[in-house]
Amino acid sequence: MTEAFTTGKEMTTRRKSIAELLEKSEHPMTAQDICSILEIESRSIVYEDIGHIAKSIKNSGKQLLIRPASCGKCGYVFSSRKVASRPSKCPKCRSQWILLPGYIIRSKR
Ligand SMILES: [Zn+2]
Repeated sequence: MTEAFTTGKEMTTRRKSIAELLEKSEHPMTAQDICSILEIESRSIVYEDIGHIAKSIKNSGKQLLIRPASCGKCGYVFSSRKVASRPSKCPKCRSQWILLPGYIIRSKR
């Protein structure tokens, strides 16, 4: 199955701000961090934007690095291949204390 993504060349202002933030940051930032810094009302907006950003920066020699989400209780690391995901429960110990994934943008060398 093929999914049709809109390949707009223009990033929205909000996406640009998120990309800039992740580029300048020294540490991976969670969607929550991004929400509070840029005053975005919902984390799901950030997850969606990050998905778009990951695709659009590929052509500019940059890449989105992801620190995977992990369980705050047992340390289980979620190995999700999805760029922007937010697990809600640990599959190992069923804890809902999930440390959110972090994102950072670096140039490919
Ligand atoms: Zn766990």
